Amino acid sequence: MTLPNHRTWAEISLARIAANYHALRTAAGPECQLAPVVKADAYRHGAAAVALRLQAEGARWFAVSNTSEGAALRESGITADVLVMGDFLDFERSLLACAHLTPVIHSVARLRELNSYAGATGLPLTYHLKIDTGMGRLGARATLDELLQAVRDAAYLRLTGLMTHFASANDFVSPQTADQITAFEAAVAKFTQSGLAPPLLHLSSSGPVAFQIRRAYGTLVRPGLALYGYVSPARGAAPQLPLDLQPALTWKARIVEIKNIPTGDSVGYGAQWRAARPTRMAVVAAGYADGVPHQLSNRGHVAAAGRLLPMLGAVSMDLITIDVTDGPQLQIGDAVTLLGRDGEASYDANEMAAEAGIISYAVLCGLGNRVARVYVD
Ligand SMILES: *Cc1c(COP(=O)(O)O)cnc(C)c1O
Repeated sequence: MTLPNHRTWAEISLARIAANYHALRTAAGPECQLAPVVKADAYRHGAAAVALRLQAEGARWFAVSNTSEGAALRESGITADVLVMGDFLDFERSLLACAHLTPVIHSVARLRELNSYAGATGLPLTYHLKIDTGMGRLGARATLDELLQAVRDAAYLRLTGLMTHFASANDFVSPQTADQITAFEAAVAKFTQSGLAPPLLHLSSSGPVAFQIRRAYGTLVRPGLALYGYVSPARGAAPQLPLDLQPALTWKARIVEIKNIPTGDSVGYGAQWRAARPTRMAVVAAGYADGVPHQLSNRGHVAAAGRLLPMLGAVSMDLITIDVTDGPQLQIGDAVTLLGRDGEASYDANEMAAEAGIISYAVLCGLGNRVARVYVD
């Protein structure tokens, strides 16, 4: 197989993302819509490419974090509804309205301000209202009566969704998710009694869909990580196995140099590694600027020559050093796999995250700009 002419690149399978999307759709069932979360450049899989593919697969909603991400989707040709989940500041309001984005409102004060803006400009704006049921980050904390009054008062705006977000979605020891569902159901009941309940009711990110916690589905779910093929490890006993999802991204980098290190010599910054045996060492063209977590210094692995080979020494900005003594066939110019499978060996974002003491989200979102994206089937 001929390799692309890059020092480091990610091979991204849009077909796998589409298959994960359909698996999640099937799990969600016919009554529940799916809003693929494509914030942070689709967890570095490429927001435009991912959203265009999923729009072609039938997605009617997308979720992003901020207004510029939403506007970029519009420029790429996304006509589906776009939910902006991460709040907005005054200077972002006009772009929100002009790009026909749907903001999530997180406080009564912000609802009043946006309503005045819509009244003054005549721009049509819809919104979703987020209730803080225990996450304690964004989301309104006003009483339900105050919220109902604020929604009634916001006559220039149209409420199309009510939502919340879980703090401990994959934690099956803590009662927090059940408590949050109960609080959200109480809010929905109150909105329904008042005739103000919108059609879209949503609570779930990837975890509850992947583990099929149906009570948490509502009428829309917002999976991100699961679309890209990952489920965070559960804490405690999950009620069932997660859906079978396939990682969509393989990350490779080339060997730029190979040397023999005699016993006793050190490698890299701080001489953190010293050869205990004559070692064949390869220098690989990816470092922490490309997203290799610095925490993997002296402890991470790469997949190459059909096995897992250890990183040795410090991860540096542009390079890592690996022990290829057990991969004698590897040569300068060959690619090693930082994330993905090589023959019998595989190393995925959950494994890299576990070795680095971080989370898989941070591994994927950490992929740097120098990692070229190559779309494959
Ligand atoms: C990022 C995000 C999601 C998606 O989370 P995943 O765990 O990646 O599925 C859903 N909802 C909100 C509010 C988010 O910020």
